[in-house]
Amino acid sequence: MDPRGVSALPPRLVLIGPPGSGKSTVTPALLDRFGLARIATGERLRAEMTAGSELGRAAATFVERGALVPDTLMDGLLRTILDAVPHGQGFLFDGYPRNRHQAELLDALLAERGRPLTAVLALQLPDAEILRRLGGRRLCTGAGEPWTLHIDDGDAVARCRAQGGTLVQRDDDRPEVISQRLAVYHAQTEPLLAYYRASGLLHGLDATGDPAEVQARALALVRPAQ
Ligand code: AMP
Repeated sequence: MDPRGVSALPPRLVLIGPPGSGKSTVTPALLDRFGLARIATGERLRAEMTAGSELGRAAATFVERGALVPDTLMDGLLRTILDAVPHGQGFLFDGYPRNRHQAELLDALLAERGRPLTAVLALQLPDAEILRRLGGRRLCTGAGEPWTLHIDDGDAVARCRAQGGTLVQRDDDRPEVISQRLAVYHAQTEPLLAYYRASGLLHGLDATGDPAEVQARALALVRPAQ
């Protein structure tokens, strides 16, 4: 209960945005404020690929060429993920759903669990800025958990080197794969904006500017669930 006697349950969120729109960099403030579980399917798939699991091996050819991993594989992963979120905890999906089938399955599974979504945040960024961000995006690896930086950010590059890390480009950030991922976003994921607008959950989020600004805008949009 908050001081006004309103019960404030943690929100249950979906973050939608084109590749490179800063989905992963805007989330920390929301996770901290509401104690949310972050569910990032891209990271989960990359971890499975690194581990060489059956799912990782099956997903690799799709991830590497910038295509969506087939729903037959993603459906099982979604069920596993949802079963692992403790009941009272809110969550934030980062990179899921990416097509109409996934959105409908997510709604159905959450309804079964009595935990429907409370808001969908849609990051908005022009394609030209997306291409600039993705083309310069690197992972700092080799010094603890990998973290993301841009090669134009001299401070971040220096911090990575000081940690003994190495800058590595994701295979799917190569120029030919970037344009494929953008095309997939426009064709399959963007139509979800209309789907969520129709259910009254959609909030547009201006993704221009630095991560702190975008985080502040995101926090202003999200309220605890009632
Ligand atoms: P991301 O890190 O979110 O950009 O995801 C990287 C890649 O993982 C995508 O280009 C897809 O190949 C795959 N992927 C991540 N999430 C999904 C999803 N919900 N459905 C299908 N493929 C996905």
